[in-house]
Amino acid sequence: MAHFANAVMRPLLGPTFVRPVSLGAINMADFERVRVRAQPFRPPGRCKKDIASRRVIISPDCVFLTSEYECDTFGETFSVEIKPKQGWHSLKATCSVDLCHRCLKQHAKLFSGEIGSISEYCPLDLFSGDKARMKRAVFDLCESPCNRFKLFKNGDLIYTEGVGELSDVEREMGSLFSGLSPLDSLAALLCTALLSPLEEFHSKQWSVDESFVSLDPRSSVRSKVCDTHSLPLPDNCILQRLLTLQRHTDISDADAKVLCDWLLSTIDDLEGFQQLMLWQPNTKLEHQLSQKELDQVLQLQRFLLSVTAKDVSLLITFRQVEEKQKPTAAPTFHFRSLDKSFRVMISVIDLDPKPVHRIATWVKRKEEWLQTYFHSIKQDGSSSLLPAS
Ligand SMILES: [Zn+2]
Repeated sequence: MAHFANAVMRPLLGPTFVRPVSLGAINMADFERVRVRAQPFRPPGRCKKDIASRRVIISPDCVFLTSEYECDTFGETFSVEIKPKQGWHSLKATCSVDLCHRCLKQHAKLFSGEIGSISEYCPLDLFSGDKARMKRAVFDLCESPCNRFKLFKNGDLIYTEGVGELSDVEREMGSLFSGLSPLDSLAALLCTALLSPLEEFHSKQWSVDESFVSLDPRSSVRSKVCDTHSLPLPDNCILQRLLTLQRHTDISDADAKVLCDWLLSTIDDLEGFQQLMLWQPNTKLEHQLSQKELDQVLQLQRFLLSVTAKDVSLLITFRQVEEKQKPTAAPTFHFRSLDKSFRVMISVIDLDPKPVHRIATWVKRKEEWLQTYFHSIKQDGSSSLLPAS
């Protein structure tokens, strides 16, 4: 996992956006202590899995600024975690479902009674490059956070589903952006940061795009289908880098399953195959494979990489900067109408490699969602969504 994060995802997404991790080992006493003390804080659904290894991944705590970013800052450190999910509509090419991957899943879960309501958040809005829709996406996340939106203050989780209230966010942001509407200002800072090519320029001073503040996130009428229109995202901003990785593959889940089954039937060295799928070199096996098989391995690697990219979280961590700051390589965003500047650090987390044996489950799950979806349309005659003829 550490190799994948450091040697594969970090170069692809850019060192500005991925903090390197390292490996460590803990002794038996610490292992037991962590196991026992962490248990009460874990969601019940996860408790059936327990930690098993004393080898650990050491990662910076990205809800705080690293020392490079922290220089000349003061006050509270806030961090917003967003799980953006898939920012483009991959189903469009293969069948006429007018919902993106994430909305299809939500729709199916709602219809089958797994969830009681769905958040209005659609990833296509966040990745649209359209300012009004991006702001709406941030508001949708904020108002209906589920586990896709979290706000941390000095490392403590103060708002997400089941923790805190939206009014807590308004109060905290109200004192930070005093004089402006708190949520509008937060959305402006977040959207500007997400659209800025932070790695590209040596000058690290940016202006918050304050046109976001006055945009009405509810101005456009939401249709029943996901809006697939989009504007090009600025090169090398985090959203563009992430979207490029999500689109890194030209094969569908079903194609990937066929490819995987084929390779598993021809390759005897299963351990070596798993290694290659995790982007680790295995020259012995590579020499045994034909060029065609090597190309197929590469296709599967790219597919699994795109799956990881669809499941990451972004942490946007920020803190106010002193008036007389020293020149620094860390990005600073100036809010002109407040005459305040903020240091902003964006980190991509949850960069785990996805296991190849899960492909069959993904294919099955998507088929189930599609069936549920078409079934729901049949029951709802008023809907304009129809399956492909
Ligand atoms: Zn959608």
